Amino acid sequence: PEFEEIDLNKLIEDVLIMYEDFIKQKNITLEKAKNVDNIYVNVDRNRIKQVLINLLKNAIEVVTNEGRIEIKSGIDEKHRAFFQIKNNGAQIPEENQEKLFMPFFTTKTHGTGLGLPICKKIIEDEHKGNLYLVKSDEDGTIFRFELPLDS
Ligand code: ADP
Ligand code: MG
Repeated sequence: PEFEEIDLNKLIEDVLIMYEDFIKQKNITLEKAKNVDNIYVNVDRNRIKQVLINLLKNAIEVVTNEGRIEIKSGIDEKHRAFFQIKNNGAQIPEENQEKLFMPFFTTKTHGTGLGLPICKKIIEDEHKGNLYLVKSDEDGTIFRFELPLDS
């Protein structure tokens, strides 16, 4: 792995630019919020980029009309970097919520079921952070990860 200091907010912007046209075409409302301008983290940039792409793709894939995606990033009260993504649309049934991080669990016809397990491995094993489902209910689904700032 190639660890280097990057600005997580900048990486988020880079990923959003890749999906900008698609998000517009699908009429998705995208909201962004950050509690600091720059989030310097020591990470394997391409691996964290892969996590952001997987989480964003999952969100895009569930929202239909009236689609809404909210992204938040910043530094939390425990002095960790965080990234959080919320989407509306169909909620994840309770019995599926515990299977999300199992390899090959998918509800999609052409899904691999590898996106979330890979994200979890990258954040937790490779970067000593946490990645988890915050909640999924009628108001929306939220995934979040945290990364140590001093790694
Ligand atoms: P895949 O996208 O190939 O199905 P993932 O590991 O990325 O594999 O996701 C596994 C499953 O978790 C998905 O098939 C879907 O059922 C559920 N899921 C993941 N992200 C979301 C989300 N943002 N909203 C609703 N369900 C989700
Ligand atoms: Mg996926």
